[in-house]
Amino acid sequence: MAEDESAIADLISLYLGREGVSVQIATDGQTALTAANNENFDLIVLDVGLPVMDGTEVCRRLRADENWTPIVFCTARDDEIDRILGLELGADDYVTKPFSPRELTARVKSIIRRTKRQGEQSKILRIGQVRIDTETRRCWVHDRAISLTAIEFDVLAYLFASPGRVVTREELLENVWGYSEALGTRTVDVHVAQLRAKLGPHAPIRTVRGVGYSAEVADPQEINP
Ligand code: CA
Repeated sequence: MAEDESAIADLISLYLGREGVSVQIATDGQTALTAANNENFDLIVLDVGLPVMDGTEVCRRLRADENWTPIVFCTARDDEIDRILGLELGADDYVTKPFSPRELTARVKSIIRRTKRQGEQSKILRIGQVRIDTETRRCWVHDRAISLTAIEFDVLAYLFASPGRVVTREELLENVWGYSEALGTRTVDVHVAQLRAKLGPHAPIRTVRGVGYSAEVADPQEINP
């Protein structure tokens, strides 16, 4: 966790520790970046406002370096959320300050649970030109590997698991993010938008206005390419 306010850092460590999550604290951005590059964390909680190098720059450098460790941002500003979740930074989730330790703990545990889900047999799912492997958590368009964040992969895998079925935003929130409380559906929309951007013009995700999304080929001719 990268957080320069020691009271917050200590409190979060306490909460996560109770849940069996061990926490390493960095109090500035450069230290956080170095630690993230040298160790294999399950997840990074990143404050935006950090000394030396701010949290968004830490994230940008990690992603530029193909480090896809899940990142949960802490931000005091609502207007930063799109940028945090968007293509530029590719974070997995966020909490806005002031946040409750319980809320952050729930999100951290949810992401760790999802990304550590292992022992499932390798399962290749394919729709149109897009192929995913649910065990190795990799994704390809044609044969080009696409780098997805943990949450992007989970959204895609959830949609791919039932092709053609319309999935509501609420269902995605509950099953992918792991909480049903009203988080606001903007989170879902931002992640789907960036998934589409990464998958390109043949992204097999259809928007069903006012309802949600479904995984299907954009062009029927792509079913048997
Ligand atoms: Ca701060």
